[in-house]
Amino acid sequence: MRHFAIVGSGPAGFYTAEALEKAFGGAARIDLLDRYPVPYGLIRFGVAPDHQSLKAVSKRYDKVAESDGVDFIGNVTVGRDLSIAELLDLYDAVILATGAPHDRKLGVPGEDLPGVVGSAEFVGWYNGHPEFADLDPPFGGSHAVVVGNGNVALDCARILSKTRHEFEGSDIVGHALDALDTSAIRTITILGRRGPHQIAMTPKELGELGHLEEAVPVVDAADFPPVEADDALDPGLRKSVTLLRGFADLRQDKAKHMVFDFFAKPLRVEGDGRVERVIVERTELDDKGGARGTGETYQVPASLVITAIGYSTSPIPDVPFESGKFVNQRGRISDRLYAVGWARRGPSGTIGTNRPDGYEVADLIAAAMPAGSGGEREGATGLKRLLETRGMMPTDYDDWRKIEETEIARARPGSPREKFVRHEDWLRTLGR
Ligand code: NAP
Repeated sequence: MRHFAIVGSGPAGFYTAEALEKAFGGAARIDLLDRYPVPYGLIRFGVAPDHQSLKAVSKRYDKVAESDGVDFIGNVTVGRDLSIAELLDLYDAVILATGAPHDRKLGVPGEDLPGVVGSAEFVGWYNGHPEFADLDPPFGGSHAVVVGNGNVALDCARILSKTRHEFEGSDIVGHALDALDTSAIRTITILGRRGPHQIAMTPKELGELGHLEEAVPVVDAADFPPVEADDALDPGLRKSVTLLRGFADLRQDKAKHMVFDFFAKPLRVEGDGRVERVIVERTELDDKGGARGTGETYQVPASLVITAIGYSTSPIPDVPFESGKFVNQRGRISDRLYAVGWARRGPSGTIGTNRPDGYEVADLIAAAMPAGSGGEREGATGLKRLLETRGMMPTDYDDWRKIEETEIARARPGSPREKFVRHEDWLRTLGR
């Protein structure tokens, strides 16, 4: 019997567990470890609460967790409660599926002013991530700025502009719903350092902006190259650009404006003790398609700034780390140590991109461990003994089910669940 530990129970972790089960048949025991007693990682804490259809993939993950060869071991933080070396002693292979939970820094003066938050913090706050439950984003001013032209920037801008009514059926946490309901924000400026042809926004997410109750996208037709230039774009991007062109032609007005400010690079954030404005430099495209400053600057008022410019992985002691992810070759970090998902390749792609990624690494592991070799390691038995000696209280999938049932039972009408947002509330639900 082979023993595998997957660290992180988000999409990458679950797809890898599924792939290892298939690769080793009944000859593997797979433990999915998570620092929280709740599984799903990005699905619970990252995917937008008003995109419930995307979150439905968790049903598939439940099937994996409930299969004979897979166990969930929650409430354990690798790198703090136990080391990678200890895990490698206990398991035939360890696979890091820890995602990319930290915000990349903008690297401009003033970004540490109160009122400037990263998208991981903001998204975590409205999705009930315990680390960000107390974020309390400032909604008292009328202007917000979102930096970045990816889907996360769109998520943040959309959440800022929706009405209470538009959150019906979502699982946005109560504290966020109440705070957003009293928000004074009326203008959300989305800063892109390059142009409409360089956006990283996908058509479905962009299209939603055209159908909001109180908000309307504002796009300047002068930012676009001639329409014939769209023919050279790949089909998905062309669709997004066509949507943006349509927004430029919109003649409707609503109470809230989402202003797409292209060719706009933040130079610094200013304010007296807290953010009041972003100083922006107008850019143009250089020969390689990058953003080149023109020297022309202007200011955009903002009492809230959200940077949505990408994420990085958490380093783990003794694991080589560079440029926001673990150093690896096609998923292999070192002997018996692997990485999958965003921890392997950085924060790109959709949830489904993690599936082939997990299968590829499972194949690598299978090739490195021919049938009939190994089988001396203890796996979960040794892990549980080690954790007990350290006074740790790991949780299992039945514990998660209890938490889930309680979250469903306390949901407001029409909502699938009301998440607990504190670690101690999860444990209290379990009577611990
Ligand atoms: P992303 O797609 O990589 O976009 C990051 C954006 O930040 C880019 O527009 C980039 O501009 C900009 N940026 C980076 N550094 C910057 C800087 N210093 N100053 C100004 N702008 C800067 O990242 P993301 O939006 O965080 O999304 C992460 C992944 O999750 C993506 O694959 C995304 O599609 C996926 N996602 C999917 C969904 C969905 O399917 N519904 C929802 C959310 C996220 P440049 O291009 O100029 O570098």
